[in-house]
Amino acid sequence: MTQPAELQLLKEVSARLGCDMGLVQGAGGNTSVKEGGVLWVKASGAWLSEADKRDIFVPVDLPGALRALEQGIEKMPVADPAAKLRPSIETSLHALLPHRVVLHVHAVNTIAWASCLGVDQEIATHLEGLAWARVPYRRPGLPLSQVVAETLARRRPDVLILGNHGLLVGAADCAAAEALVHEVERRLRLPVRSAPAGNGAALEALCRDTDYRPAPDDACHRLATDPRSLAFVTKGSLYPDHVVFLGPAMRALSAGESIGNVIAANAAASLPPPVALLAPGAGAIMRSDIQPGAEAMLVCLALVAERLPADARISYLPADEELALLDWDAEKYRKALSLKA
Ligand SMILES: [Zn+2]
Repeated sequence: MTQPAELQLLKEVSARLGCDMGLVQGAGGNTSVKEGGVLWVKASGAWLSEADKRDIFVPVDLPGALRALEQGIEKMPVADPAAKLRPSIETSLHALLPHRVVLHVHAVNTIAWASCLGVDQEIATHLEGLAWARVPYRRPGLPLSQVVAETLARRRPDVLILGNHGLLVGAADCAAAEALVHEVERRLRLPVRSAPAGNGAALEALCRDTDYRPAPDDACHRLATDPRSLAFVTKGSLYPDHVVFLGPAMRALSAGESIGNVIAANAAASLPPPVALLAPGAGAIMRSDIQPGAEAMLVCLALVAERLPADARISYLPADEELALLDWDAEKYRKALSLKA
């Protein structure tokens, strides 16, 4: 199928967004452009950061996608039978928004706000003058699309703050959409708490003779060296990609506990060894076989947690939502693809 000219611009915008850890982590986020009844949307599991190097967009039949949504069908109709990739699990969001260009990012300032209770008035003050709406958390895919459709039936926002999830913006062209992402993140910018660096020697000692190693990105250690962040992230899960790639919440080692103790406790509960662990005061460790997608997700959590105000009331994902995310076939497919990347 012939690709529209705007898609070339979208690839460039997507690559820029995808290379900014404050906006997109790993295979998260997705972008689209509509042209002649076709929705060109990022493929499931593909990385936006590679949008200018690889073909990561799939053509979807737009009227067919909207019909499928009305009928409660999650599978989106691909417009090109030769297409090998599957459209993003969030394709329906892109179909629903009337804008020609739609960008969805897991922007860390937006996620921090979208994970807090009782902040609607503050968000309204920051976003004054923009056409925006906040939608409550729903699992990505059909449930999220349904709540977005309900919002769009009442008004026509250009900016949607997705509860416990991220940011969705629509605009007439790529440049306006990209500018809007940055504008929202600028207005919602939260101060970052400073925290001590990780204790490399302590982490190395902890990991000796295990399948774990210190997290390679320094940001991750702040999850364990900042008592506030540590408290926030060990109490529950903030957003879906965290659960999919790292499991529910974060596990911290208690005093004197070894990695072997944790693995044994997990095995007794029929749980796999944790992907990552926090050593309070020392830093974060991860399994040695961890893939880039999961590593990026731990950095995302650190960037969100250090922006949560110390007195924030957090809206954690309910346990049944965590389970739904872990059991979800579409996510298994996405994770498998992204782990191979
Ligand atoms: Zn998302």
